[in-house]
Amino acid sequence: MALITKKIKGTEDVLPKQSYRWQFIENIMREESRAYGFREIRTPVFEHTELFARGVGQTTDVVQKEMYTFDTKGGESVTLRPEGTAGAARAVLEHALENEGLPIKASYFVSCYRYEKPQAGRLREFHQFGIEEYGTQSPVADAEIICLAQSVLDRLGLGDVRLELNSIGCPECRANYNRALREYFSQYKEQLCDTCLSRLEKNPMRLLDCKSPEDHKIAEGAPRITDFLCEECESHFREVQKYLDSAGVEYTVNPTIVRGLDYYTKTVFEFVTDCIGAQGTVCGGGRYDGLIEELGGRHMPSLGFAMGLERILMVMDAQGVEIPQPEGCALYIATMGDAAKLKAFGLLAQVRRCGLVAETDVVGRGLRPQMKYADKIGAKYSIVLGDNEIAENKAKVKNMQSGEQTELALDDTFAEKFSVLHLSDAAAFKI
Ligand code: ATP
Ligand code: MG
Repeated sequence: MALITKKIKGTEDVLPKQSYRWQFIENIMREESRAYGFREIRTPVFEHTELFARGVGQTTDVVQKEMYTFDTKGGESVTLRPEGTAGAARAVLEHALENEGLPIKASYFVSCYRYEKPQAGRLREFHQFGIEEYGTQSPVADAEIICLAQSVLDRLGLGDVRLELNSIGCPECRANYNRALREYFSQYKEQLCDTCLSRLEKNPMRLLDCKSPEDHKIAEGAPRITDFLCEECESHFREVQKYLDSAGVEYTVNPTIVRGLDYYTKTVFEFVTDCIGAQGTVCGGGRYDGLIEELGGRHMPSLGFAMGLERILMVMDAQGVEIPQPEGCALYIATMGDAAKLKAFGLLAQVRRCGLVAETDVVGRGLRPQMKYADKIGAKYSIVLGDNEIAENKAKVKNMQSGEQTELALDDTFAEKFSVLHLSDAAAFKI
């Protein structure tokens, strides 16, 4: 039978030798979100298509062109999640989480699915870390989640990432702004791409977000939302900036940032870098005060952000940020004969209970290939266990780097003594 060895276009594997990089960034994201009082939410990878149509928005690229939608055998239309907010919002409503007190604060790690043109930093399956906060209209919450995103990026060691901030107002200020935009873009009807033309009536703000270079140029001269904000939105925007200033978070106001989803209101922001090419937005977020109502709930102002994990790793690579390798194998026990094999099994269990990585032969190799394997996996210590060692109930533990040998009894104290040896050498040799 022919081997199936090709992954689906736009998907990536994370191999065992690379996964520590993912775990490193995920751990920092978990720790930082915890420090700000967010707890993780996990929702299904697929949902009713209707949820995304309403929760992401009919006029978005995501809903119009990018969703993986299919009918189940039961004839239901379901969609692989293209983002994490809609599922979290659905869960908040379904489980009436508001009864547990407001604001509801959740963080998530999700795989997302979008049928886009694959290129560097743009995949069809990609991963996001995100934050959701429901039930607060305070600008302090906006500033707080931005600080959280900034702390994550700082702790990851990323440089040259700028924060771009904007307010897209509320439906009231947007009505005037949309009118001004329609007027402006109508002058360029001949030059606009088809997608933009179709959005001119329904959602002209989307034209500011068009990826086509020609349209982008036209968008640069468009009226600016910041000139159309109502008093309440304007003051909210000022407050957000005041709090960011007080936390020492730097930003620039960029009136062309509108974000990809329909239900954004007031604050929107992106963290952008120029070091990984065109797909330089590593994090995007803002307020979506209308979302919960759109899904059938009561008015519940909400906000959040999402970071693209693949893009974060690309930036770290491009900037040469070192990611610490996890502890490797501390002890490899090579065995000769069945009695040694059995003894090794018990010793390894002891060592592993001390939190150290320990391995032995599970392939049935001879002594030499076993030692070769120990070298290959970078084992720090090794023991050769044969009939003699078992008869004397002690063995020499060899430091693979220095060659130094230490004799240890093969009894109940073995793991404890090995740990001490490992620790003292770790200090001396920096292994
Ligand atoms: P873009 O403008 O790059 O298409 P977006 O506005 O569609 O991004 P969001 O829906 O806000 O992106 O998703 C948040 C983050 O997820 C983005 O800032 C980016 O880091 C990442 N992301 C989005 N789409 C992809 C993709 N197809 N492949 C990899 N990462 C992605
Ligand atoms: Mg996109």
